[in-house]
Amino acid sequence: MSTEPSSPAQSPQDLEAMLAQALTSRAAAPAVPAQGQRCGLIAIVGKPNVGKSTLLNALVGQKISITSRKAQTTRHRITGIRTLGQAQYVFVDTPGFQTRHGNALNRSLNKTVLGAVGDVDLVLFVVEAGQFNLADAKVLGLLPPKVPALLIANKFDQIHRRSELAPWLRDMQARHDFAEFVPMSAKNAKDIERLLGLCDKYLPEQPWMYGADELTDRSERFMAAEIVREKLFRLTGDELPYTSTVIIDKYEEEGNLRRIAATIVVERDNHKGMVIGDKGEKLKRIGTEARQELESLTGSKVFLEIWVKVRSGWADDDARVRAFGYE
Ligand code: GDP
Ligand code: MG
Repeated sequence: MSTEPSSPAQSPQDLEAMLAQALTSRAAAPAVPAQGQRCGLIAIVGKPNVGKSTLLNALVGQKISITSRKAQTTRHRITGIRTLGQAQYVFVDTPGFQTRHGNALNRSLNKTVLGAVGDVDLVLFVVEAGQFNLADAKVLGLLPPKVPALLIANKFDQIHRRSELAPWLRDMQARHDFAEFVPMSAKNAKDIERLLGLCDKYLPEQPWMYGADELTDRSERFMAAEIVREKLFRLTGDELPYTSTVIIDKYEEEGNLRRIAATIVVERDNHKGMVIGDKGEKLKRIGTEARQELESLTGSKVFLEIWVKVRSGWADDDARVRAFGYE
């Protein structure tokens, strides 16, 4: 920061102006960076199930985006923040680009992906090492040509003959002008450190957008819905269609206690049975696991009640998709 002696902010008017500025949005932060601060937006993009959310959680150092073996787990844009020394990395996780169904939910997810890559300093384009198909190609086609992109060849732990990757790599380099090729595993701590190091030089010199200890821009209430949704997906396996969703009806804080009521919305009566399970056992487990995770996330005691409702056709209905919080 410039320390010009001619512009000290001492008079009451100056203080008032400073206060007013401090109270306006982060976007209006002063153009002069605080001494040496660097901060950049990094979008994590790729087709469903390549490991984007796993990568985001590892980069942030805490679980903030839910993951599962089921495709289409992530539905919203989620920001994860990591501050190391003077560098602040602001990662944006996106739902994988949806190509299979043209319904209202998927149209909304695609809009979220497009919004995320528009204005970033760096893109992490995630694929499974050794693989590239039409779905990957569609996401790659969305990358703005001027933003630097790293090719993240994830799940490298699953590749047994690494030498066989060379032709694939040449093929990938021909497809896009990647700034770097990063074979790695999102589950390997050393790889994550190395990736943070590679991203560092793309962070422009500018003031931080978040506090040094902030991890996400998402509210506890939002995280609660996501955690219930993750347990739902994990515990119901493949039989429950991905169109089921979770809404939070109540989120109350009383000192060191959270009272939360959630509704799982499914499309059909038989889906309701899958969620509730034999003698309510499945729903009970969803509730227990979600509560434990919420307790560790919030550091408080949690009372969680979960209801299940049938609302047929919600994923095909634009107005409902908006009402459930997808733009
Ligand atoms: P997303 O849809 O791209 O966000 O993918 P997720 O992060 O939800 O991960 C999809 C699946 O891939 C999960 O079962 C993860 O545990 C798994 N996964 C993610 N990264 C790795 C990795 O580096 N190696 C292996 N073996 N599995 C991974
Ligand atoms: Mg995801």
